[in-house]
Amino acid sequence: MAGEFSNHVLSGLRVKLVLFRFYTGLLWHIIKRYKSPTKVKARWGEIKDSLEVYRIKKATHKVVKHEGRFFFSCNLPGWPQKNFYNKILSMSETSTPNSLDKLGIVQIGFTKKCPLNCEHCFEGKILNQPEAISLEEHVLMVKKLQDGNVPLIQFGGGEPLNRFDDLISVLKSANNSSDFWIYTSGYGLTQSKALSLKNAGLIGVSVSLDHFDSNAHNVFRRNHKSYQAAMDAIKNAQEAGLLVAMSICVTNEFCSQENLHAYLALAISLKVNFVQLMEPRATGNYEGMDVLLTQESKEVLDQFYLNVNTSKALQKAPIVQYFGFQQRKSGCAGAANRYIYIDTDGFVQACPFCSNKKSHFLTGNTPQDLIELKAEGCNYVKSVNHEKTFA
Ligand code: SF4
Repeated sequence: MAGEFSNHVLSGLRVKLVLFRFYTGLLWHIIKRYKSPTKVKARWGEIKDSLEVYRIKKATHKVVKHEGRFFFSCNLPGWPQKNFYNKILSMSETSTPNSLDKLGIVQIGFTKKCPLNCEHCFEGKILNQPEAISLEEHVLMVKKLQDGNVPLIQFGGGEPLNRFDDLISVLKSANNSSDFWIYTSGYGLTQSKALSLKNAGLIGVSVSLDHFDSNAHNVFRRNHKSYQAAMDAIKNAQEAGLLVAMSICVTNEFCSQENLHAYLALAISLKVNFVQLMEPRATGNYEGMDVLLTQESKEVLDQFYLNVNTSKALQKAPIVQYFGFQQRKSGCAGAANRYIYIDTDGFVQACPFCSNKKSHFLTGNTPQDLIELKAEGCNYVKSVNHEKTFA
């Protein structure tokens, strides 16, 4: 199935060499910071253990090489990156649990505007209301995140391309200490826009594509041009030199090995770097609906995820991300564990789905919010307080 193509996915010995360099650098930074051999030994063991969460069945990872850097996931910053090792050391320390320095990813709801109204949209109830975050506030939010050493910042929405000029301004205002991605339906990602985003500092684009069949995707996205928009966006982003992930909301109806492999075959033919498997949640347009994956569907997804990422025959296939697998294996990264969401009003939340809304990111008490989110944990199977989210 792998076929002849190039999506910069490395495997086997080349990954072992990357990992050797990575861990050597890590050890050097641990020695520099902790000096005493006893402390170095203890911290080395703890940090290596904490990184195990990213390994699958002890298998050697696949890695995407892009412009001289290495990406283990579309949800991790590329390595090397400014302050990368210091970040890992800070995240693993128990002091200052309420600091932004503990976070690996922050996603920002960049806009309430979107030309679509997808079946599963978690922001379905607030779409196309007046914007609540000004350009200046977005610039300040990114500055605050970068001052807090957040290495990966994602812009979602709504459709972030709907505020294209603001997106460019925010990217240009940022420094190069973080990687930036957008989450998009692809609507309006022309060649020139993709190039402008790349030149402004964007690293990657996660394009939503919810079916390998164009008609089924368009029905899910409730727009007959949506599939073609996603195809164009993938091509334009690749030509501009951006990393590309294809992201799918896997419903129970879709979830079979046959469908997942047909989707993977499309991803391979499009030469994308990553495939992200997302689970539907009963929030937004799905509120009150019986959409959570069944145990059977989760097992199908787990098997697919493990197979694609560890099988020799699929070594060159895109890296598959499945957050649900890691969530069940080692706990949720959200709820200020390693990730927070800032909603389209600028308020801090555990994630886009567990909408236990806290204070405003610019004017509220972020350290206290992070403590509370951590204490409350993941709401995955509990009911969520939509009233607060969509107020
Ligand atoms: S899921 Fe994304 S693209 Fe679809 S309506 Fe919601 S914001 Fe728009």
